[in-house]
Formats: sequence, structure tokens, C-alpha cells
Amino acid sequence: MLNTPKKEDVDENILLSSVEKWLEIKVKPYVAKLEHDDIYPREMVEQMKEMGLFGATISQEWGGLGLPSSTYAKIVTKVSEVWMSLTGIFNSHLMMAAAVEKFGTIDQKKKYLPLFASGELRGGLGLTEPDAGTDLQGIRTKAEKKGKEYIINGTKTWITNAIEGSCFAVLVKTNPEAIPPRKGISMFILEKGEGFSISRRLEKLGYKGIDSGEMVFKDFKVSDSNLIGGVEGKGFYQAVGGLELGRINIAARSVGIAKRALDEAVRYSQERKTFGKKICEHQAIQLKLADMVTRYETSRLLVEQAANAYDSGQRCDLEAGMAKYSASEAAIENSLEAMRIHGGYGYSKEFVIERLYRDAPLMAIGEGTNEMQKIIIARQLIERNKI
Ligand SMILES: Cc1cc2nc3c(=O)[nH]c(=O)nc-3n(C[C@H](O)[C@H](O)[C@H](O)COP(=O)(O)OP(=O)(O)OC[C@H]3O[C@@H](n4cnc5c(N)ncnc54)[C@H](O)[C@@H]3O)c2cc1C
Repeated sequence: MLNTPKKEDVDENILLSSVEKWLEIKVKPYVAKLEHDDIYPREMVEQMKEMGLFGATISQEWGGLGLPSSTYAKIVTKVSEVWMSLTGIFNSHLMMAAAVEKFGTIDQKKKYLPLFASGELRGGLGLTEPDAGTDLQGIRTKAEKKGKEYIINGTKTWITNAIEGSCFAVLVKTNPEAIPPRKGISMFILEKGEGFSISRRLEKLGYKGIDSGEMVFKDFKVSDSNLIGGVEGKGFYQAVGGLELGRINIAARSVGIAKRALDEAVRYSQERKTFGKKICEHQAIQLKLADMVTRYETSRLLVEQAANAYDSGQRCDLEAGMAKYSASEAAIENSLEAMRIHGGYGYSKEFVIERLYRDAPLMAIGEGTNEMQKIIIARQLIERNKI
């Protein structure tokens, strides 16, 4: 558990209203252009640094804001309502920071956490490989120990912030012969340098503006002091240990997309008229709106429940799984329904709906696919109700 402050210690309303103001003035007017041209939002990144978002969940003792995940989830939702891509820039970074804060040695915390919190050093998580995503035990990137150093060789793909970031928590095999394979997996904190390069930027359906890339390690040398926690064989547990929080974050992003699609549909359905009346007065549209608001509220409450369970230190894989599954499906369904409600305009690049529709499917893939979420939910359900 991270050293998170209690809910009552944080003035959530002040924080959320300053984020809202920033989004309204500094983000909203520029999103469409940046998104359609797939441009990295450099100025917004500087503003996010100033607001402390790169240290949002890092403890105050290391220079972060130390927010509980319930407050952080609300910030993520607000930002996603305006532009989901922005949340990936600080979210993946904070997942890396959480791995160091939760599992790192005291020297690793002292060295990295203040730099992460200020946003001076930014990055993300390097788990996925061309042949291993869901099945992380199948990774092939290897770290061989030579004296006080490790030599790393392998490829990581789909890594968020790969090009713009400079430091990553990377999963490797320190013992490829281990049985079960997870016992031979370790996690390192790696800063870019000779032997650590980005081979290509990956083009995507949505999630534009933010960079996704392929990382290549070729005889990359790193000091053994960068092995997270200082002991080999703990990496799989360290990666999986961050997934509950990661799922709450993805769910919070999804709630933002579901909410924006709903808001746009509610507004448009009162403006557009067909057959002499507003389309919101047609029962076929009302049925869609009813489903959309119900999906949004259900997901929002599931995220709140999961975040509260996480903050109180309870095991919450069931809650986080349900929140992630429900909210990501809500984002996908609401964005499609908003498109139908907008008719031809929903398909136009001049309206936000087409972006929501392109961004939403990623929510069903990241931090554990929804197929895997359902398996996790069912396993936990049985585990908690054993007869
Ligand atoms: C835009 C984007 C950003 C990303 N950012 C990052 C990042 O920053 N860091 C990172 O490490 N990764 C990142 N990823 C990778 C992402 O985490 C993986 O794509 C995801 O884990 C799925 O892995 P995969 O693509 O290899 O699919 P696979 O694991 O090959 O899965 C393919 C299909 O099989 C299903 N499946 C697999 N195993 C089972 C099973 N046991 N039972 C039932 N169904 C199963 C899956 O649900 C899926 O439907 C990102 C991906 C994208 C698209």
C-alpha cells in the first residue's frame, strides 16, 4: 500500500475545480487540432507539471500531491471528458512511480521519486512485447548479470510515452529457465542511454497526440542498483501488484468518455428536430438516452467503490475488475449510441463524437483485456464465496 492521505485531508473540491478551469481555458479550445494532426501537447505537459499532476499519487514526503486514488480517479475522469490522451501522459508515468514507491529500495525512492513528482523525469511502464501481452510470463527480454551490472537485450512494444519519456519500469527475465517462469522475472528502472533506443512510433486508430512506441535494448548496460527492490525474481508480482490501481485508472478514463458521449447526446437531441419535434421527444432516442445515463452512473459508482476499497487497503481485484469491465464497455457503447443520435454529424470530424468512438475501444484492451477481467471477476467471486 502506498502512503496515501485520508480523504478528509484533501480539499477535493478546490483541486477538481482548478483542473476544470484549466481544461476549459487551456485544453478544450486546442484539442481538435492537436488530436486530428496527432501532435504531442507539449504546452499542456508543462501546465500539467505546474499543477503537480506528474506527482498526483506520489506521497508528499517525496514531493508529490499524495492523492488518494478516489480523488485521483475523479481528476482522470474530468480530464478524459475533455481529452483522454492527456491522462495517458501522467497515468503511465504514475504507474512507473507507484512501482518504485511500493517496491523500490530506499535509495531508488530517494533518487527517482522527487524527479518523477516534479515531472522532470517522465516515462511509463514497459511490460508488453511483440509476442507477449496478456501472458506476461512469456516475455523474452533478458537481463544477464555481469559483475555489478546487467546487460539487457530484447524488444518491448506498445509502450506509452516511449518517445517523449526518458525513464521506464521495464519487465525482463533474469532467469529464463525458472519454473514457473514468473519466478525468473524482474523489474528494472531504466533511463534511456546507449543501447536503449526507440525503433518506431506506432500509428493508432485513436489515443492520438500521445506517443506509443517500440523499445529496443541491444547490450544495454545498467547498474544492479536499478533492479527494483534489489532482489531478482520479484518483477512479475511487482507488475501484477500495480494492476488494481491501473484498472481503476482505466475505468476512470472510461467513465470520462461515457460521460462526454452522454452529455453531447443529451444536448444535441434537444437541438435537432425531425418530423416537427426535437429528437429527444422520439421514444427511440429516449430509450438510448436512458441506457446511456444508466451505464454512465453504474460505471461511475463502480469506480468509486473500487477506489475507496483500494484506499482503505482492502484487496480489491474483484471491484477493480468490475469497474474496468463495466466502464470500458460503457465508453464503447455510449460513444456508438452518441454517434447514432448525431446521425451524419456524429461521423464528422467537426464533432467530438468521432474521436470518442475512436478512443473508447482502447479501454477494453489496456491494463488487462476485458476477456481477462471477466475471468478475474469470476475467480474472485468464487474465492469469496467458497462453500
Ligand atoms: C494504445 C496502447 C497503449 C499501450 N500502452 C502500453 C504500455 O504503456 N505498456 C505496456 O506494457 N503495454 C501497453 N499496451 C499493451 C497492452 O497492455 C496489450 O495490448 C494488452 O495487454 C493485450 O496484449 P496483446 O495485445 O498481446 O493481446 P493478446 O495477449 O495476444 O490477446 C489477444 C486476445 O486473446 C485474449 N486472451 C488472451 N489470453 C486469454 C485467456 N487466457 N483467456 C481468454 N482470452 C484470452 C485477449 O483477451 C485478446 O482478446 C498498450 C496497448 C495499446 C493498444
